[in-house]
Amino acid sequence: MNIEEALRARGIPLTHQRLAIYERLKKSKEHPSAEDIYRALKPRYPSLSLATVYKTLQTLEKLGLISLVNRPHAQARYDAITERHHHAICERCGRIDDLFDPRLDELPLPKGAGGFVVTGHSVHFRGLCKGCAGAKERRKR
Ligand code: ZN
Ligand code: MN
Repeated sequence: MNIEEALRARGIPLTHQRLAIYERLKKSKEHPSAEDIYRALKPRYPSLSLATVYKTLQTLEKLGLISLVNRPHAQARYDAITERHHHAICERCGRIDDLFDPRLDELPLPKGAGGFVVTGHSVHFRGLCKGCAGAKERRKR
């Protein structure tokens, strides 16, 4: 389903701003936060408010057009890739990279999960990105 149909089905008008927010997220590989998207669009959409960006992202997420990448204890980051994939999350700079691997797609639910019904899963590897790991190495010397 595309954004136009999804919003129309809910009776939500597809405004220029809503479309711009979605397109911006789709173009980004960085899993931006609402603030990132707001800062990127503000020069071209002077009337855009941060609240609109928040609300639009929440609506798009509810409609399944985008997903939320959960970094525990950090600000919400969003993703327009809706096919199954996984993430490598840098704990220092917050960089989030996409990982595609069919082996991770097929993780079985551990035995003893007591009637839990799975609707999906995504694996998050936490650690240091290449840049941050390199910086740590250089400091050691
Ligand atoms: Zn990093
Ligand atoms: Mn992603």
